[in-house]
Amino acid sequence: MKVLAILYKGGDAAKAEPRLLGTVENELGLRQYLESLGHEYVVSDSKEGPDSDFQKHIVDAEILITTPFHPGYLTADLFERADNLKLCVTAGVGSDHIDLNAAVKKSVQVLEVSGSNVVSVAEHVVMSILLLVRNFVPAHEMIERGDWEVSQIARNAFDLEGKVVGTIGAGRIGYRVLQRLVPFDCKELLYYDYAPLPEAAAKTVKARRVEDLKELVSQCDIITVNCPLHDGTRGLINEELLRHFKKGAYLVNTARGAICDKDAVAAALKSGHLNGYAGDVWNVQPAPKDHVWRTTKNPLGGGNGMVPHYSGTTLDAQKRYADGVKGILDNYLSGKSQEPQNVIVGIGKYETKAYGQR
Ligand code: NAD
Repeated sequence: MKVLAILYKGGDAAKAEPRLLGTVENELGLRQYLESLGHEYVVSDSKEGPDSDFQKHIVDAEILITTPFHPGYLTADLFERADNLKLCVTAGVGSDHIDLNAAVKKSVQVLEVSGSNVVSVAEHVVMSILLLVRNFVPAHEMIERGDWEVSQIARNAFDLEGKVVGTIGAGRIGYRVLQRLVPFDCKELLYYDYAPLPEAAAKTVKARRVEDLKELVSQCDIITVNCPLHDGTRGLINEELLRHFKKGAYLVNTARGAICDKDAVAAALKSGHLNGYAGDVWNVQPAPKDHVWRTTKNPLGGGNGMVPHYSGTTLDAQKRYADGVKGILDNYLSGKSQEPQNVIVGIGKYETKAYGQR
């Protein structure tokens, strides 16, 4: 059988650091395992257009492995040509780059390594909140330039203590963010999610549920986005919703770029309506060189905490999701049932409630 993996190129870094498992060079550590079982393993980073390895090999692959960090976009059109495909495995968390409705229709299973990088992302969210609120990036840039003007930084630096923080989505990552914020003595922790937290969990972090999104954002100094991308969240944070944000609020999005309207967020940051925007996810990846989120700043020349998509791909996370992919393949190849929390689409139906209410 053919197993196709679309991963990102790791170059010299991957040659020098074998723990960069999610790269084309290190192949999630699966080559020997798959070949010893007599399977063909094709690994490439070439994913765009009809001549890409992705489109060439998808026609007869039985298993497709992809990663959100360098997404191979499996569209409904490509599903029509993928006659042999039975299983899509996401090395990581977040399978929005796969057309999940088409997977349901074609009875192709979609699995993720649920939980594999949720702590990695939650840590990144807390870091991003802090670097925006404390105006860290311009302060560091000033030091690199050789300057020293404390007031230029301090005029837009605050404490996290006493602020209201809200998460859109309180699943594995959102909840871990709330847990990690508890010691900062925020004024209030809020969440918006159609699935309420279990009572005991909400009590542990003293989080209050807000059932209306506009109400949530209008109460928050800091908003963090931690829900999957699906039809109900694409463009959720747009010009109209941004109007309900407090002036000078901060927005952190490590969920998916397309949940935020690119131009509306950039305009809000530029005008100062948002004092900061940070995250690691982009509406197209790799992000084009001229993507407006790379350079937009608030009127005081700060407030941009954007980085490439890496919060969930620390070396610790890579080990967990590489092991998780192998576990999923083991189950598939030996006919064992999969761990339920990993199954996004089972045969012919959604098995998760996280990708939209239905
Ligand atoms: P999860 O399934 O545990 O939780 C998602 C939560 O979002 C669920 O509670 C669900 O009910 C909620 N939700 C869904 N639609 C919503 C909506 N319209 N409004 C409010 N809440 C909604 O998933 P998770 O492990 O917490 O991951 C969440 C997302 O984070 C992933 O789907 C992925 O897109 C992203 N992620 C990013 C990285 C990264 O490296 N940047 C890594 C892992 C995951």
